Amino acid sequence: MDIHEYQAKSILANFGVAIPRGGLAYSPEQAAYRAREIGGNKWVVKAQVHTGGRGKAGGVTLCENEEQVFDAADKMFGKRLVTNQTGPDGKFTYRVYVEGGVHIEREIYLGFVLDRKSERIMVVASASGGMEIEEISEDHPDSIIRSIVEPAVGMLDFQAREIAFKLGVNPGQIPQTVETIIGCYKAFRELDATMVEINPLVVTSEGAIIALDAKMTFDDNALFRHPDISELRDKSQEDQRESKASDRGLSYVALDGEIGCIVNGAGLAMATMDIIEVSGGRPANFLDIGGGASPERVAKAFNLVMADDNVKAILVNIFAGINRCDWVAEGIVQALQNNPVDVPVIVRLAGTKVEEGRKILASSGLPIIRASTLAEAAERSVEAWQNTNKSTNNVQILGEVAS
Ligand code: GDP
Ligand code: MN
Repeated sequence: MDIHEYQAKSILANFGVAIPRGGLAYSPEQAAYRAREIGGNKWVVKAQVHTGGRGKAGGVTLCENEEQVFDAADKMFGKRLVTNQTGPDGKFTYRVYVEGGVHIEREIYLGFVLDRKSERIMVVASASGGMEIEEISEDHPDSIIRSIVEPAVGMLDFQAREIAFKLGVNPGQIPQTVETIIGCYKAFRELDATMVEINPLVVTSEGAIIALDAKMTFDDNALFRHPDISELRDKSQEDQRESKASDRGLSYVALDGEIGCIVNGAGLAMATMDIIEVSGGRPANFLDIGGGASPERVAKAFNLVMADDNVKAILVNIFAGINRCDWVAEGIVQALQNNPVDVPVIVRLAGTKVEEGRKILASSGLPIIRASTLAEAAERSVEAWQNTNKSTNNVQILGEVAS
């Protein structure tokens, strides 16, 4: 789960990370009022949307008086901010964050991720901050410092100090840099984060070390341990289909292909997507309906997949281990009888009670295309999609003739 910049900053501040003075606003009037509260003669208005790259997309505006703060906020509210990370639809701005301006002397990159190879938390830092980590690794690969934290001892002072030295901060700024690094690590660890990123972490002209931007992502499976973090969820920033799915206990990721997938098990779902690609199609989604594929779950899965207008065929691929194919087949039949779909449905069942399951599908009278292997199922799905494609083209041609 992602949270907003202002939320991440407030969390990190509790762990000893220095942040600028700031206040949240839900209207341009409120933004101007926040600027007055903060004081000074420079402010930054920042769109609170779950994405990076806001600076280049008009989501971060430097202002020198309250009118400019009002106008900057006015331009951001109620609009979709499209950045290089959001995709073409962008994300809605419902809140802006107003901060006191800071005189930047240097910009540093500081990130914390889970390194899958070493199975440890890894610090990634670079003296070339301000740009995105992907750009840094292309343009300044040698500037990247990587440091793995031993879980048994955690992040120790000397390790943080070593990172600070490599970043080349002045000796007088080492203690505050160390405090920042250790604070971020503690927040990551104690709150079950999967990512903490401060970009840029700046050295101000007064010599202070301040987090100008902050991003945090949390492990969904650990949120039950952190009710106060769960409350920070902002559904307006999520893909609507994905949040609906997660509310129903299904694991769904929207993609931009044409073949909808209903699969049990994440590994099988990924294999299914791969083989669709190999057969010349493109998956419309990743969907893991979980181990106990009850009729209700299967029905919910069909509804979810069919809500995507791009879907031109649905491939159901179920491997029944603990589950039973006859039960899953009944679920499919029930789901399709209650909510008929207007695209071809291809079903491949394997595992426990597979013969019984196939019989149920065959005797249902529904136009289900059955396949016995995954490869066959994928090929049939791609064929079915190509055929619907042809028939929609025909409809268009007939339409032209008729008019
Ligand atoms: P992002 O583009 O979504 O990562 O948003 P950031 O919060 O990182 O802001 C983008 C850029 O705006 C930063 O890299 C800074 O260069 C600049 N910026 C943000 N806050 C301030 C500030 O208080 N003063 C100045 N001078 N620049 C700022
Ligand atoms: Mn940033």
